[in-house]
Amino acid sequence: MLEIQLESVENDQQREQLRLTALRSTGILDSPPEAIFDTITRLAAEYLHADSAMLGFADESRIWVKSFWGHAVRELPRSNSFFEMLQEHNDSMVIPDVAAQPELMQRMLLIKRTQVRFFVNVPVRWVDGSILGELAIFSREPRESLDPEALHMIEGLASIVTSQLELRRLRLGLRTATQAHTQPAEMSNGDWPTVEDLRHALEHRQFVLYYQPEIDLKSRKIIGLEALIRWRHPERGIIPPMQFIPLAEETGLILPIGDWGLAEACAQIQRWCNDDPRHVSLRVCVNLSARQFSRAGLADHVEALLLQSGISSRQLGLEMTESSLIPNMRTALEVLGSLRRLGVSLLMDDFGTGYSSLNHLHSFPFDVLKIDRSFVGRMTEGDQPLHIVRTIIELARVLGMDVVAEGIETQEQYQLLRQMGCRYGQGYLFSPPMTAEEITNMLRLPGRILPEPQDAIDERD
Ligand code: C2E
Ligand code: CA
Ligand code: CA
Repeated sequence: MLEIQLESVENDQQREQLRLTALRSTGILDSPPEAIFDTITRLAAEYLHADSAMLGFADESRIWVKSFWGHAVRELPRSNSFFEMLQEHNDSMVIPDVAAQPELMQRMLLIKRTQVRFFVNVPVRWVDGSILGELAIFSREPRESLDPEALHMIEGLASIVTSQLELRRLRLGLRTATQAHTQPAEMSNGDWPTVEDLRHALEHRQFVLYYQPEIDLKSRKIIGLEALIRWRHPERGIIPPMQFIPLAEETGLILPIGDWGLAEACAQIQRWCNDDPRHVSLRVCVNLSARQFSRAGLADHVEALLLQSGISSRQLGLEMTESSLIPNMRTALEVLGSLRRLGVSLLMDDFGTGYSSLNHLHSFPFDVLKIDRSFVGRMTEGDQPLHIVRTIIELARVLGMDVVAEGIETQEQYQLLRQMGCRYGQGYLFSPPMTAEEITNMLRLPGRILPEPQDAIDERD
């Protein structure tokens, strides 16, 4: 009997040790305040119409509050805290009326002096399932209950916290790994291509745009196309963008390449409309990178292109990742505002992967969120990625934005996304990126409706 007890104590200690190691590996305890966490706590509070919300992580003795919406509290003692209760309970807790449970009142005092009646506490779990912290929401008014959808939403926000922690840890790990090497980080794929190669390619018109259909998941109608650049190299064949875009960005050649891409996409939209005037309802989206945003004249340039090609601003979409906006936020914000006034759609690409997706969502005028394909791909692997996807869809709905799911490869993913209310999507399940000619044929399908898809990605990739 005693042995068993000792063993369980040891297990508990071990578990706590693992938990603390995991917590430290994220670096969160030492980090300065991060905007994303403020946005998460604020969204959680707003979503539940609550008075305040906090996000905290527990080390051996304290809860380090990383964000507090409503009142500012920096640290709390851990003993007898709600974090400990959460750990024992090992699940989200909803307490409709704290006053009805006097033994809880004392724990409440640890949080703040104002009266708390309604209380929700959701674990922030690490990838191994252990609880690193809590997202807690408080209200002065008691409530009857909390509907499961709302709890799901809060749990989804807590999952976004986890994915941010995971990313931080990866970045920290990467940084240490790079620092450990004496050599500076070089382009990994040898000496090819060089800037000269890129310049040559531009002069000799070796870049082409492929297009991937974006579809309405319910009707399978093609509603838009994403333009994706390729380098048609005379000897090396079709070169994917990841092999040359980073160098183009580094050297500034992305500016002429990007200008070419925008002009080419506008001209192609015009060609498709000539083929069938009903294609005016198509939106063609072009990817932009950071450098293109640091130019204040981008909106003028786009306006000139629209006039030149005679297409309407509704027919053009611009995709950008949050990381492309960060280097020069002020200019990016101005440029986005001007683009928005022009009437072109703004899409936030790879949503969920960046530093502070949620924060930028509030500060930038996006129309569409594109759920990164890493979430879509992992959606059927477990609850957490599924939660993240559900939360993003829900967030977009609350904010009045459209959602496009990227990288749909299987029927299962397709059906799940539809069930969760995601309206649009793209991926190999429907079509890989194709040449403009191939797309022209596809657009001739009656009603632009694609046939029922089959799982057949291996043939296409
Ligand atoms: P992205 O904007 O996230 O583009 C989506 C990528 O996912 C494309 O890769 C596309 O081919 C791929 N994809 C589409 N469906 C699926 C699927 O079902 N499964 C999987 N595994 N992948 C799928 P691609 O064409 O290699 O482009 C890679 C990245 O290069 C793009 O990522 C974008 O960031 C950048 N890029 C492409 N074209 C341009 C461009 O004209 N300008 C700039 N600045 N960047 C570009
Ligand atoms: Ca994109
Ligand atoms: Ca993307």
